[in-house]
Amino acid sequence: MQEYKIKFNKPFIIGNELDYIEQAVNSGKISGNGVFTARCQKWFEEKYSFRKTFLTTSCTDALEMSALLMEIKSGDEIIMPSYTFVSTANAFVLRGAKIIFVDSCGNHPNLDPNSIEALITPKTKAIVVMHYAGMAVDMDKVMELASKHNLYVVEDAAQAIDSFYKGKPLGGIGNFGTFSFHETKNIIAGEGGMLVVRDEKDIAKTEILWEKGTNRAAYFRGEIDKYNWIGIGSSFLPSEITSAFLWAQLENLEAIQQKRVWIWNQYYDRLSHLREHFELPHVPEYATNNGHFFYIVCKSLDDRQRLIEHLKGQGVMAVFHYLSLHASPYYKDKHDGRPLPNSDRFSNRLLRLPSYYQLTEEEITYVCEKIEDFCK
Ligand SMILES: *Cc1c(COP(=O)(O)O)cnc(C)c1O
Repeated sequence: MQEYKIKFNKPFIIGNELDYIEQAVNSGKISGNGVFTARCQKWFEEKYSFRKTFLTTSCTDALEMSALLMEIKSGDEIIMPSYTFVSTANAFVLRGAKIIFVDSCGNHPNLDPNSIEALITPKTKAIVVMHYAGMAVDMDKVMELASKHNLYVVEDAAQAIDSFYKGKPLGGIGNFGTFSFHETKNIIAGEGGMLVVRDEKDIAKTEILWEKGTNRAAYFRGEIDKYNWIGIGSSFLPSEITSAFLWAQLENLEAIQQKRVWIWNQYYDRLSHLREHFELPHVPEYATNNGHFFYIVCKSLDDRQRLIEHLKGQGVMAVFHYLSLHASPYYKDKHDGRPLPNSDRFSNRLLRLPSYYQLTEEEITYVCEKIEDFCK
């Protein structure tokens, strides 16, 4: 296997991760919904005014919870981008839904809200958006359509921690928001995630779903004297070991975000004179940039492949991203056949550069020099 000098991603420890894990173990409780879980959830609720948050073992889990909470069933239609991670779609396919894929914008991998309305039918249940690279979808348009047609909105905010749309934190705008703390994201816990619930009316149901179909959470709050099976549910709670690690990361959120945005800006500044060779990312005026990762859009699939090989030869790992879900082996026969050219264009041409917390200025300089060499 190729040894890379500069990998695409590297997990990191920034503060008291190991101490907090030790504390959790010494406390005598490492199963879920303990002290560290509560601390993380409260932090999100206070910092971003999220109504209610539930830590999960992954963003995939949080998406699956949203599908269960909306009672998605066979025959329902869900509108979502084709250019997204497979979990965004799988959560609903697992419930028997049909996915109606929307194209990306021409200048951004995010879904194009202007293409949504024509796809809404009486079977449509929800619009699922994904904020690519932590940059907001134009949510006013999405929310307006949802309210006009009485649809749910789910935000796959896996990449979008601490990022905003017109001042509103992403993940808190739709009915449900889902986050990931997978080792490739800004804030990590190995595997981990979170569901954000916007409306009071959905909270009790979520709590039961989260606690394996029981009212155990109400029992532990002392509201009832025994707990029972009262609804559908499953095992979505992360252990306290995961939450303890996450808590240490959250304590350092500001330093982490600052560094990622700094890396992003370094790439942008150092590569902007090469614009005739590839496109640089576009940050919409209504969106903030949380520096999740930096990407360029090459002139062709072939150009991108040659750049990947060139960088690999120099020990730099650059990676492409999603392959359009509408054209995937699993879904292509189920898709309605509409071409989605922008999604395909990003599938073929987008390339992500190394982006992780410990990346140094010398390493960024090295990567940019190698890209410059390639362009010559
Ligand atoms: C990472 C990611 C996920 C999956 O997150 P997990 O926590 O690994 O389940 C889902 N959607 C998007 C857009 C992602 O980037």
